[in-house]
Amino acid sequence: MSLFIVPKFLVKADGTPGERNPATCGKIEEKMGIHGNSTCVMNYDGAKGWLLGEEHKGMRAMFTMMNEARLGVGMQGLAQAEVAYQNALIYAKDRLQGRAVTGAENPSGPADPLIVHPDIRRSLMDQKSFVEGARAFILWGATLIDRAHRSGDAAADGIVSLLTPVIKGFLTDRGFDMTIQAQQIYGGHGYIEEWGMSQFARDARIAMIYEGANGVQALDLVGRKLAQDGGKHVMAFFEMVRSFLKENEGDEALKADFLDPLKAASKDLQAAGMFFMQNGMKNPNAALAGSYDFMHLFGHVCLGLMWARSAKAAQAALAAGTADPGFYKAKLVTGRYYMARHLPMTATHLARIQSGSDVVMSLPAEAF
Ligand SMILES: Cc1cc2nc3c(=O)[nH]c(=O)nc-3n(C[C@H](O)[C@H](O)[C@H](O)COP(=O)(O)OP(=O)(O)OC[C@H]3O[C@@H](n4cnc5c(N)ncnc54)[C@H](O)[C@@H]3O)c2cc1C
Repeated sequence: MSLFIVPKFLVKADGTPGERNPATCGKIEEKMGIHGNSTCVMNYDGAKGWLLGEEHKGMRAMFTMMNEARLGVGMQGLAQAEVAYQNALIYAKDRLQGRAVTGAENPSGPADPLIVHPDIRRSLMDQKSFVEGARAFILWGATLIDRAHRSGDAAADGIVSLLTPVIKGFLTDRGFDMTIQAQQIYGGHGYIEEWGMSQFARDARIAMIYEGANGVQALDLVGRKLAQDGGKHVMAFFEMVRSFLKENEGDEALKADFLDPLKAASKDLQAAGMFFMQNGMKNPNAALAGSYDFMHLFGHVCLGLMWARSAKAAQAALAAGTADPGFYKAKLVTGRYYMARHLPMTATHLARIQSGSDVVMSLPAEAF
């Protein structure tokens, strides 16, 4: 594939716009969401284009834009979940429905606010611990990019390259799930346009599809990125987790709630990588049937690492004395939730990966 630049007007020798190039919009697409963005069919009927870069090197050239765009779309997954969560939180404090099982918390009112109910709390904690962990993950990714671009740090560049499909795929999948959870907090109102939550649900859906559908991100991760440069970037990632655990092994306050779960999750990730190494060469289906689970397993380990680091920083701030102890205490509580309630998913993903490809592939296509 080659890349071309096709201007709307053919440029005259003096640099001013000349004849109209027949590059035209054929149709504005009717979409499920993102209505503020006019996606269209473009027609190039006899239009003139100029080769950009080398012939047959278009894919590689386009990836300069694609990699940046994938990080941007990962950010979209997080941002959509964040705004949905913020709305859900306001609603959960405002809407009166039912009574707390442990006794009325708003006795003078006709009912208690939704936020008193454990299942609503569970959902809000799911969302809060995801968005804050994901924010740290995105910020870490951005710092690695800065290091790669501003100081030529090749190791940082390698880790970003490895993590790009994880940032895109995991954050948009989980971002969508969290947006749906936020919509659910509204009950029936979540389904009514006036409240705005259905728009978030529709808008969040595209991030899982464009800039390469998430299944293709998983394929990129397992098929290309794991083995890139002899697997040195994934080894560097494991080393980063290992050294964090080692540096903090004496920290009893972090151990049970943060370090032990991170260690277990990281072991699951290594076991999955090992499974691919042992089985993927002789049977590529074995690796690719587990690629989606691997992308999620990796995403959880990244967020687990972010939460363990955040917990360490929060503990240090509280020990040093801070003007805002509530903020850091909330970080510790929220991080503990992620480690206890989200991170155990790594074991499920590993079991699915280790079940191999037979269970996935053995039904012949015509039997579906
Ligand atoms: C609103 C919107 C805006 C867009 N904007 C742009 C734009 O500005 N520029 C642009 O170039 N494109 C744009 N696109 C296109 C978009 O990037 C693609 O639709 C997207 O990358 C998915 O590719 P596809 O539609 O060809 O799906 P396909 O590649 O056909 O994929 C279909 C399904 O099959 C899976 N799949 C495909 N191949 C494999 C494989 N080898 N192994 C496993 N699973 C596989 C995918 O995960 C997916 O679930 C836009 C699309 C939309 C909907």
